[in-house]
Amino acid sequence: MDRGYPDTHVFFRKLTTRYPLVVRGEGCWLYDAEGRAYLDACGGAFVSSLGHGVAQIADAMADQARRVAYVSGAAMTHDAVEDFAGQLAALAPGDLDKVYPLSSGSDAIEASLKLARQYCVDAGRPTKHKIIALTPAYHGNTLLALSASGRDHYKTLFRDWLIDVVQIPAPYPYRCECGGSAPHCDACSAEHLAAAIDREGAENVAAFIAEPIGGSSTGASVPPVEYFRRVREICDEHEVLFIADEVLVGAGRTGSWSAIDGFGVAPDIAVYGKGIAAGFAPLAAVVAPQRIVDVLAHGSGALVHAQTYSHHPVSCAAGAATLRYLRERKLVERCAAMGPVFHRKLAALCSLPHVGDVRGRGLLAGVEFVEDKETRLPFPRSAHFAESFAAAALDAGLIVWPNVGQANGVDGDLAMLAPPFVIEESEIDAVVTRFAEALDVTIRQMGARTV
Ligand code: PLP
Repeated sequence: MDRGYPDTHVFFRKLTTRYPLVVRGEGCWLYDAEGRAYLDACGGAFVSSLGHGVAQIADAMADQARRVAYVSGAAMTHDAVEDFAGQLAALAPGDLDKVYPLSSGSDAIEASLKLARQYCVDAGRPTKHKIIALTPAYHGNTLLALSASGRDHYKTLFRDWLIDVVQIPAPYPYRCECGGSAPHCDACSAEHLAAAIDREGAENVAAFIAEPIGGSSTGASVPPVEYFRRVREICDEHEVLFIADEVLVGAGRTGSWSAIDGFGVAPDIAVYGKGIAAGFAPLAAVVAPQRIVDVLAHGSGALVHAQTYSHHPVSCAAGAATLRYLRERKLVERCAAMGPVFHRKLAALCSLPHVGDVRGRGLLAGVEFVEDKETRLPFPRSAHFAESFAAAALDAGLIVWPNVGQANGVDGDLAMLAPPFVIEESEIDAVVTRFAEALDVTIRQMGARTV
């Protein structure tokens, strides 16, 4: 019953993989056409935070589609976008309160970078155009978002089409000099940012973009708490806009609405995606304060990022219903409460072979695999450890998100976990058991390959 290229007319994401045919989901579980159950331990791609099969969200979308499925955001407004924007503005950090809905994280990241640039021009500082970003980091796969991403293997083929983005090392305590403890290295103290702005000239720098907690590119690395306070100071000092990419870590995933909330500062612009409509609709959003949007209102008059599906009624209805559901069921609070339980149980994985580190916050975790736990030496990329592990996990009925390349741009293997906020303790136990089972199979298969 499984499918793969070239069986059908679908141009599949991976052309060398067989995919189970999923037919139904409920809570943390997905079921395929043969009745096999899969424990969705990463919400697909850090998306399904409410769990699967939530009728209220589906009903809200159907109701909106019946009344008005589409109007252009250039011509009309509607209740769904007002409802979504109002709820999101109330949750966003600091003074951020103007919401521009789009349909993917990459799209919204592009829009946020263009907004920063357009703001600088409209504010009379036209030389400010450079972007500073971290590496490793991921901000999306469209060309501007990809330019800002510190993910070499996604960029290689398209290098000639990308713009220059200044990249500085990400705070990554498992692999940096200071290990995340004081006195901090330049990556963990944000001194790399200060140095980069000095080098490029503050008059040329428009924005610094960062994920407040690493997503899959640093495997849920949590920077020291002082990091973003220092980022805020540096950005203020040099009139550089700080853009928080909350696409993966926002919308409650780390136990606070925005991951940046845990650092006691607010960005100038925040970008949400993934969990914002919990997978019921493709939805993302740029959120900016009136002090920035006013400059455009009195300048060029509109953000130059026209998209047919921005401000989409059905997507916004899904987003509004998701935010309401999270609030009514206190699910972000639940995520905060379950986080320590989740991490305590996952700590058992540290004693398994090749598990170098388990880290994260809330219901987000990264498990970093290494060839040698003592030296933290990664597996060579040719071993495809993360991919083999994810395939073994799927066989064991566990869905994880593999990621690679974080150790040195080429090598490095991660399994990311981000279960729905409704996960029960018994289901976390099942994640741990199935994870261990899959690891055992992966190691045995690797041994068989190298003999
Ligand atoms: N930013 C971060 C931190 C992400 O993790 C992702 C996707 O994984 C994106 C941006 C891009 O989002 P999308 O895949 O919806 O375009």
